[in-house]
Amino acid sequence: MEFVSAPAIFGPMDIYDHPTFRMACQQFDLVANHLEIPESERGRLKYPKRSLTVALPIHRDDGSTEVFAGYRVQHHLTLGPTKGGLRFHPDVRLGEVAALAMWMSWKCALTGLPYGGAKGGVACDPGKLSRGELERLTRRYTQEMMPFIGPQVDVMAPDLGTNEQVMAWMMDTYSVHMGATVSSIVTGKPVGLGGSLGRREATGRGVGYLVNRATDTIGLDISKATAAVQGFGNVGSIAALSLARYGVRVIAATDAFGGVYNSNGLNLWELEKHLAKNKTVAGFSESEPITNEHLLVLPCDILVPAALERQITEANAGKIQCRILAEAANGPTTPEADVILNQRPEIFIIPDVLCNAGGVIVSYFEWVQDLQSFFWGETEVVDKLFRILETSFTQVVSMSRKQKIPMRLAALSVGIKRVQEAKRIRGLFP
Ligand code: NAD
Repeated sequence: MEFVSAPAIFGPMDIYDHPTFRMACQQFDLVANHLEIPESERGRLKYPKRSLTVALPIHRDDGSTEVFAGYRVQHHLTLGPTKGGLRFHPDVRLGEVAALAMWMSWKCALTGLPYGGAKGGVACDPGKLSRGELERLTRRYTQEMMPFIGPQVDVMAPDLGTNEQVMAWMMDTYSVHMGATVSSIVTGKPVGLGGSLGRREATGRGVGYLVNRATDTIGLDISKATAAVQGFGNVGSIAALSLARYGVRVIAATDAFGGVYNSNGLNLWELEKHLAKNKTVAGFSESEPITNEHLLVLPCDILVPAALERQITEANAGKIQCRILAEAANGPTTPEADVILNQRPEIFIIPDVLCNAGGVIVSYFEWVQDLQSFFWGETEVVDKLFRILETSFTQVVSMSRKQKIPMRLAALSVGIKRVQEAKRIRGLFP
């Protein structure tokens, strides 16, 4: 694959300029070249359809007032409502959110969901806000987003730094405004409020399923495999548990505050208890400390980045020592790192748009259940989830093999082509 370095975004779309947005554009350009998409169609496919930036003043517990920045980006409106998570993190910026929205578009299209991609964010550190402050910020954000969202317009879900409780506050704020309960406005809600069984576990469970399929594909005995997981939040911790159920020994885990390593395998159930008590995996007994940087280059069979973007870069891509790179996070590998990884056929990559798609797939199920007020059992949810993942995995692997192209290029090609075709058929409006 030819490598094109990431130029800064200049011109009218420079509001989105950000390293992560440049990275998403760079990936898009590589795929557009591969698919020979005419220049005249590229801008419409690449740039977000619309975005909203809001100032969010809230009262802090000490009586002061603080203004936070909130964003929402809807990437394209061609295939249905937009869908995507809401992230609370101090570094969130409009351009990062735009990149994540673009990846959501390709992910939904790859898995055949009737959505465009979206993403939202609030630049805040949720760990430094009290529960009351977090609730006021979430409600304020929802209120400001009111003209921009709706069950048939744009549906949010949890992402980094947000959870079921945040979704419940959003759903309540929206419902109060509408004068009736509208559970379909968000997914990833508590089950008691119209959430779907299996949604909280969906992303990590999907990672486990796909890693198992990948081990079949490359002929690796999963019951003898080891794994290292970067980020031990919703996705990382469930992915680790799910891998353990397939017999994998999880030897290392890290989070924003530190990490732990045990060559005999970490006791994940004890680690969960430690995490619940200490809010970090660091300091877990029966383990040695390990840094995030070290975890990424640890000898292991399965490496699962499940935290932030741009973790696997030019600097460490040559040193990674795994057989399967399962991208549970969004955008963990830079295009520069891809160039190096593409020269290392011993590493099988499950690209992010496929690897973490379990989350949006079960979000889709939740939305469908809410719209019909008819709820499914967990077995039905998991069965349908695995069927969609199986179809997408098979399609991507067979395209990658047939065309002799990297897995990421194959996965993005399927997604981008579907959006391109829909835009061609519909016309210019969406
Ligand atoms: P989360 O907030 O539940 O957990 C994030 C974890 O990453 C935490 O353990 C945190 O301490 C750790 N972390 C944060 N900064 C870090 C750093 N600098 N180094 C190492 N670890 C760090 O978030 P999540 O929902 O598990 O999301 C994780 C990733 O998965 C994100 O990239 C997100 O976009 C992606 N994702 C999430 C879902 C979902 O359903 N929640 C779906 C698809 C993709």
